[in-house]
Amino acid sequence: MERKQAIVHDAPLPRQYSQDLLVFDHGSGVHLYDVAGNGYLDFGAGIAVNALGYGREDLAEIAASQMRKLVHTSNLFTSEPTLKLVAMLKATGNFQAVHLGNSGTEANEAALKYARLYSHRKKGPGKSKYLCLEGAFHGRTMGALSVTPTAHYQEPFAPLVPGVVVAPFNDPEHLTRVLDDTFAGVIVEVVQGEGGLRVMTREFARALNEACARYDVILIADEVQTGLGRTGYRYASEWIGLEPDIITLAKPLGGGLPLSATLIPEKINALLKSGDHGSTFGGGPVQAAVSAKVLEIVLDSAFLEEVRAKAEVLDAGLKQLAERSDSIHELRGQGMLRGIVIDPGRGNAADLIAKARDNGLVILRSGANVLRIAPPLVITPEQIEEGVAILEAILA
Ligand code: PLP
Repeated sequence: MERKQAIVHDAPLPRQYSQDLLVFDHGSGVHLYDVAGNGYLDFGAGIAVNALGYGREDLAEIAASQMRKLVHTSNLFTSEPTLKLVAMLKATGNFQAVHLGNSGTEANEAALKYARLYSHRKKGPGKSKYLCLEGAFHGRTMGALSVTPTAHYQEPFAPLVPGVVVAPFNDPEHLTRVLDDTFAGVIVEVVQGEGGLRVMTREFARALNEACARYDVILIADEVQTGLGRTGYRYASEWIGLEPDIITLAKPLGGGLPLSATLIPEKINALLKSGDHGSTFGGGPVQAAVSAKVLEIVLDSAFLEEVRAKAEVLDAGLKQLAERSDSIHELRGQGMLRGIVIDPGRGNAADLIAKARDNGLVILRSGANVLRIAPPLVITPEQIEEGVAILEAILA
């Protein structure tokens, strides 16, 4: 009962959000504390954002000292932290430039625009279609929403951007049949973060590589949720053998500050002209300085190896849980991004999330009836086991 004291009802936030919101006060390590002083183990990381946990003196110090020095330049100028960050991101693959923005949807919006621009300037007008996959989530601005083919996200906002074709997930034959040179871009997630945690097969990744290369269609890997260590690898596309032209990043990139990146190859950058795209706030010095530190930590091979080892602890715990609980229909996901599909006859994800919260565990939802686990990557094996034990208790 005590925990309920920290819930605010009917705050003047739009009704798109829950009318009962838990009010957090602070965080430390992998724990959050609400305004009533209750503690919560965090299996959600602010929707896969807080990869390094809470109360980080190192990140706070960098942000504070950069705040004193210079907060904003606009994209008419740049700063040393921004230059350092784009150099680090460029070095993660075969990229020539990095566009910085503020959110995942903006990173994808930029990628979709670059794909069309490339097609238009390289191949001429009319080859402008996009292919996206069933169950995808790429964001809520009009372009990204147009390639997010779920009725309840799209319907109230129609008409959307025309020229979008939706293909089934993990169906290489279908892909090979529909893709041709009338497409500008294909956008995919390796693990469908919002759409139920389905994981791309190697066979489908290969088919995407081949089909996009055959027609010179820009392949975009949306790694907003999967990128930078979440799956135990630098990029999930590296792990599954996907060879994207563009990678988009956001969630963990800014250490909790709003920051996104669209990594582009030479062949696109060569066709860009002054003013083709831009962002006033994107990649300001404070976010960039914090982000460079985040990258230094999460791209380190020893850190990634540790994440993979801890993901195995999580995997083993979830498998045991699935053996013991009749409510679990299926386990999905990869690394530290896992899904528990709840049997609809035996439970409801929303109720389980509320129950978990009342038992001191923050956990997320993905898709219709799937619990999503995305803890800070700095969680310990013992804390993973503690969280799984709470899940077992609420599923009992
Ligand atoms: N792409 C993916 C894969 C996501 O998971 C999300 C957000 O959940 C987005 C894009 C949109 O990101 P944002 O909410 O920062 O716009």
